[in-house]
Amino acid sequence: DDELVRAVDRIMAHADAVRRLRVRANADNPEDAARARRFGAEGIGLCRTEHMFLGERRQLVEDLVLAASPQDRQAALDALEPLQRTDFIGIFRAMEGRPVTIRLIDPPLHEFLPDLVGLSVKAATGQATDKDRVLLAAVRRLHEQNPMLGLRGVRLGLVIPGLFAMQVRAIAEAAREVPGAQPEIMIPLVAAVQELEAVREEAARILAEVGVEALIGTMIETPRAALTAGQVAEAAQFFSFGTNDLTQMTWGFSRDDVEAAFFSRYLELGIFGVSPFETLDRDGVGRLLRLAAEEGRATRPGLKLGICGEHGGDPDSVHFCHDSGLDYVSCSPFRIPVARLEAGRAALAGGGSDTR
Ligand code: PEP
Ligand code: MG
Repeated sequence: DDELVRAVDRIMAHADAVRRLRVRANADNPEDAARARRFGAEGIGLCRTEHMFLGERRQLVEDLVLAASPQDRQAALDALEPLQRTDFIGIFRAMEGRPVTIRLIDPPLHEFLPDLVGLSVKAATGQATDKDRVLLAAVRRLHEQNPMLGLRGVRLGLVIPGLFAMQVRAIAEAAREVPGAQPEIMIPLVAAVQELEAVREEAARILAEVGVEALIGTMIETPRAALTAGQVAEAAQFFSFGTNDLTQMTWGFSRDDVEAAFFSRYLELGIFGVSPFETLDRDGVGRLLRLAAEEGRATRPGLKLGICGEHGGDPDSVHFCHDSGLDYVSCSPFRIPVARLEAGRAALAGGGSDTR
């Protein structure tokens, strides 16, 4: 009832008054962004643009990845650009001038390519059309044993000319249409500063052409990016820790397979008390995060730091993020109230090797 709602409001207001960490949401569409606002999100920390290409638009990504000629590729990009612009306008509007971090596309290819097995069966049973045969050859060529460690993120952006440029242009043109929009462009799966530089130059040129300002930053989600954060910060205006991938790569656990396979045995043996995909592993992943925060800020004082892996909404991990000097956590809309509360509790508990 009303009394209870008012009491909860007072608790949240108290937490907000004392916390130092900002709290953002992971949201990929205007509806989720609006919900996140109602839960108190102060921005979007992760908009996963590959989620915009599921469902009906999947075909467009397939056309792009499998394009046989530069002309086909350009046609696929031209079809995608206005759709993306509309997506971004909706999100900027929903966030009313708060920062919105848009991550350039990071699709594990196995989630987007046509089904290899289905096509193979068609071919083997003589039911394949000419188009099926062309597709099958292309899918075989692109097939990967470990898609989560394969042609994803910045790698895809560097391999498919025009893909990231299309997205950056859509972001810039959307921002120009929405007064007060605060876009932040984020490059995924970077392992080397050279990858980031190659993308950043083109992105900066497009932003200047359109006449829009945006921060350009990177995810820190490979161990190498964390270990070379001092160099990476030369080319990044912010870091956002992708602790889902960073956990996968630091432990060597496949995100796709591991939970079902042997985690229950590991929990039984006490190798960890809780899955490291749920609560940030302070001794391993956490040390990489701190090292990257310190070395990044040594290169670029005031470097903005956030986290957008699942850990951003986990209570214990929120405390660790506060203590590590991060500026914000970003989590799913439903976890925002708890993140706000824990950020307040972390501030009251004091502590923290603030690296700012
Ligand atoms: C991450 O790796 O932590 C992350 C936020 O990116 P995704 O889960 O989309 O790989
Ligand atoms: Mg990731």
